Amino acid sequence: MHDTLPFLEAIPFPPIRRGALTTLQINLGYHCNQSCVHCHVAAGPNRTEAMSEETLALVCDVLDKRRIATLDLTGGAPELHPGFRRLVTAARDLGVRVIDRCNLTILLENGQEDLAGFLARQQVEVVASLPCYLEDNVDRQRGKGVFEKSIAGLKKLNALGYGDPRTGLVLNLVFNPQGPSLPPNERALEADYKRVLSERFGVVFNELFALANMPIQRFGSMLVSKRQFDGYMALLQGAHRPENLAGVMCRSLVSVDYEGFLHDCDFNQMLKLPLGGRDRAHLRDLLTDDLQGRPIRVAGHCFGCTAGQGSSCGGALKDAAE
Ligand code: SF4
Ligand code: SF4
Repeated sequence: MHDTLPFLEAIPFPPIRRGALTTLQINLGYHCNQSCVHCHVAAGPNRTEAMSEETLALVCDVLDKRRIATLDLTGGAPELHPGFRRLVTAARDLGVRVIDRCNLTILLENGQEDLAGFLARQQVEVVASLPCYLEDNVDRQRGKGVFEKSIAGLKKLNALGYGDPRTGLVLNLVFNPQGPSLPPNERALEADYKRVLSERFGVVFNELFALANMPIQRFGSMLVSKRQFDGYMALLQGAHRPENLAGVMCRSLVSVDYEGFLHDCDFNQMLKLPLGGRDRAHLRDLLTDDLQGRPIRVAGHCFGCTAGQGSSCGGALKDAAE
């Protein structure tokens, strides 16, 4: 795989600093039942890295001590971590909003038959990847048969009340472009998704998040192989909007890798870029340290967050860019 970091580090990006910490994003490990082309954590069925019990216990201590409002769980497939349900239950008992970044197909895996019911009982918000509403496009990006299974997963969630505004069970979908282009207008695309998924499959959801692909890991390597890296970077830089700098997710979120080390976001985590201004900051440091005002570690890939309508783990940067 081509490493894009040396190219990205050569591209200057405006300096930014942290605001108040509202979200702890935890990567529970790289084990996943899928291995998607665009995966920025290069997860897959053969990856065994997983968060230790000791680090897992620290998560709740930090949530409690720092009164962090949101716990955002990623992987891999976070649900495959043996401590997933314990962590979710403990965080919910603290009154923390919990987000599960779910790939949908996990809901149909052997041994996970009761996962959807667990998520509903705990009122976990589900953010699910569905990079397109067309079967061919999804299967090309995420693997053969993934679209059909994803629809089955969505139906399972809908049957429990997910996606119905009256239940309060939130189901949001994530879109990524197929190639080196910016995502289209988020609200217009959401309307298309809602129409097609409802008409063809009877599926409902709350919101669509349209995310830009980051020029790192598998996607970045593919760009280099196809000699599209410079063109994609020029596209991102050309579409940069300074007003998006105020809303980038790293200002309010800290990303924690499976070993407990801190990064400014999960893209930086995968690039092995430590938290800005610190050497090897760890989750346990959050028991005593406040990150507000610290510089964020930026490089060329950050233009993926500020191009056009902006991009974050919650989709376009609504407040900043509209
Ligand atoms: S489902 Fe998500 S974590 Fe798993 S390989 Fe695909 S993008 Fe990566
Ligand atoms: S890539 Fe990460 S560090 Fe850079 S702007 Fe986006 S969220 Fe912030």
